[in-house]
Amino acid sequence: MSTPVIELRGVERTYGSPPTTALAGVDLVIEEGEMLAIVGPSGSGKSTMLNIVGSLDRATAGDAFIAGHDLATLNDAELSALRAHTIGFIFQQFHLSDGVSALENVATGLLYTGIPPRERRERAAAALKRVGLGRRLGHNPRQLSGGERQRVAIARAVVGNPRLILADEPTGSLDTASGAEVVSVLRELNEQGAAVVVITHDNELAEQLPRRVRIRDGRIISDDRKVTSWAS
Ligand code: ADP
Ligand code: MG
Repeated sequence: MSTPVIELRGVERTYGSPPTTALAGVDLVIEEGEMLAIVGPSGSGKSTMLNIVGSLDRATAGDAFIAGHDLATLNDAELSALRAHTIGFIFQQFHLSDGVSALENVATGLLYTGIPPRERRERAAAALKRVGLGRRLGHNPRQLSGGERQRVAIARAVVGNPRLILADEPTGSLDTASGAEVVSVLRELNEQGAAVVVITHDNELAEQLPRRVRIRDGRIISDDRKVTSWAS
């Protein structure tokens, strides 16, 4: 079998002193090309786990491997490089810059790759076309609907062709129709080969995905791969 894209072994994260525990020993393996939901109530540790997987935060105990790299052994520059080349992030609040066009927002996703500016813009335009926004390249985020903004954020996440897409409540700020659109874009990206991890507390969304990992009080309480048909 190939190297998993994510492997967590006994991962713990505590904050402060006296310590409060956000993750209490998580073991999780995600293979290349998988798509799954991480489901759990507010405060259960979902974002903490995603931030550790995305190397935005470090575990206080245990081991985390991303695409075979032991995160504990990488320095900050190496972690930035791993993020730039391997991981695309999508957040509930989009995190777009209102001052610049959709195209410029997406092109920033390639800032740390060494690709020259002109090619960054060409690739950004292609990524926006991929998410159905080929006619919105010059729009400012404020001129776009919520669903369109999240699709700009998805284009920025995937412009470098990451093997791993990490989405933290990507539909949390969207109405049902826009949310469904965003999920269908994520599914297409998965069909094109990326592993996609979607944090959600929307059970309906989770039920559409081929694997569901449920987390509570910092622990995985179930990991269910029952085969479901895609909702259309
Ligand atoms: P979720 O994303 O499932 O809502 P989080 O991972 O954000 O949960 O939080 C898990 C637990 O860790 C919560 O109890 C939260 O209050 C705590 N926590 C998260 N981030 C911090 C932090 N920076 N400092 C202290 N406690 C934190
Ligand atoms: Mg969260």
